[in-house]
Amino acid sequence: MSKTHTGALTIALSKGRIFKETLPLLAHAGIVPKDDPETSRKLILNTNQDDVKLVIIRASDVPTYVEYGAADLGVAGKDVLMEHGGAGLYEPLDLKIACCKLMTAGPKNAPEPTGRLKIATKFVNSTRRYYAQQGRQVEIIKLYGSMELAPLVGLADRIVDLVDTGNTLKANGLEPQEHIADISSRLVINKASMKTKHARLKKLIDQISAAVDLSLH
Ligand code: AMP
Repeated sequence: MSKTHTGALTIALSKGRIFKETLPLLAHAGIVPKDDPETSRKLILNTNQDDVKLVIIRASDVPTYVEYGAADLGVAGKDVLMEHGGAGLYEPLDLKIACCKLMTAGPKNAPEPTGRLKIATKFVNSTRRYYAQQGRQVEIIKLYGSMELAPLVGLADRIVDLVDTGNTLKANGLEPQEHIADISSRLVINKASMKTKHARLKKLIDQISAAVDLSLH
């Protein structure tokens, strides 16, 4: 992919909910992809603008691509950004999409376990920070998915996970407990790109911001 044209932009997005909910915001800025990542196996999608490409990657990889400048900008959940730490990134805009909460959860009506709490999660850094702020000593067990299973089979006392409707917790006999953070997707920009492509990015951020405001009314 040529990045010699100073106005050329590469945008990092993940498939699924973030892609679907970002599409109308990009359309408002005049950017329309030529392929659908749900049906295409292409990882680089052309758009109606010759100098704008989309790269389709895992949600948790978006901050890394943008940090290293492989993409000029991207869309990532606040949960992913909290885990990444945000180094090398500007986070100019809350897109107010894919909203949910990062919460602790545990078995319904279970008594407070004695001794050190065991917490299963894929959000290791956010969980460590949360309990450290509370001055509580916990053991964190890293998992990559299906966290709800951990308390049911005695792997952990609690989990830290994203909660939207709460149906997944409920279906597994768990209940939401402590609220750690409100989560939504954010626009992230590579710090160097923000300097070298300032006019182009400023215009794009303003257009996307206007689209976010419109969808609130
Ligand atoms: P729910 O049953 O509606 O509370 O959704 C919870 C399940 O969906 C959990 O497995 C979460 O990890 C996942 N989830 C909910 N909201 C989001 C989101 N905004 N981004 C990514 N995963 C989510």
